[in-house]
Amino acid sequence: MHRNTGIKDIPPHFYWGSLELDYSTAIAANVALQNCTVMPRRWYVDARFRCADCGNEFLWSAKEQQVWFETYKFFVDSLKTRCDECCLRRSEVLHLRQEYDALIGEARSQGSVEQKERILEILEKLESSCGPLPDKMCETRELFCKQLMKLNGASEH
Ligand SMILES: [Zn+2]
Repeated sequence: MHRNTGIKDIPPHFYWGSLELDYSTAIAANVALQNCTVMPRRWYVDARFRCADCGNEFLWSAKEQQVWFETYKFFVDSLKTRCDECCLRRSEVLHLRQEYDALIGEARSQGSVEQKERILEILEKLESSCGPLPDKMCETRELFCKQLMKLNGASEH
C-alpha cells in the first residue's frame, strides 16, 4: 500500500514543466474525492508555469487545484497549461466557432441580413484572437461583404 509520503516527495509528473513550487502553501488532498486510477495527488501546492499560448508566467494555486480535482473531478494527471486570460480567450473562440458552424449553412443559402452581419462580426472576432482566417472563411467574408454592400446600395434608391 501507499506510504504517507511527505510534501517534497510529490511525483514530478504532477507539476511537469513547472517553474517553481511553493511547498509552504501545501494543502493535504482528500484522495477519496479524486478521479484517479493508480496514483492520487496527496498534496496540492502553489505552482508557477509558463503559459503555452502567450508565454507569460501564471500561478496555479493549491486552492484552485483542490477545486479542479475534488469538486470538478478533473483527471488527477491533468495540468493547467494556460493562464486564465488565454483559457478564457480559447473558450470564447470555441463558442464563436460553434456559433459560426451553426449559422453558416443557412446564412449562405437563404441568409437574412442579420445572419450575414453576425457572421461577419464572428469572423472579425476570430481574426483578432487567432490571426489570419482559413481560406474558406475569407471567401465567405468577401461574399457576404459584397452581398451586403449591394443591398445597402440598392436601398439608397
Ligand atoms: Zn496565456
